[in-house]
Amino acid sequence: MVTCTGCALLCEDIDVVFENGRIKETKNACRRGAARIRGCRNRLTPSVNKKETDIDTAIKKAA
Ligand code: SF4
Repeated sequence: MVTCTGCALLCEDIDVVFENGRIKETKNACRRGAARIRGCRNRLTPSVNKKETDIDTAIKKAA
């Protein structure tokens, strides 16, 4: 489950189905929300200074 940030309602019951690291399908999102979530697909890989890294390193850097 993820929270959609497509509008002020912030629906928190959105299911996102991934396949090969890509968003294949969203469930429970309206059309706007589905488009918003699909638009986030390029941000699923953590990066630091525009270089891909692992999630732990990215979180440490962000903190
Ligand atoms: S799913 Fe639709 S209604 Fe819900 S937060 Fe996203 S844009 Fe808003």
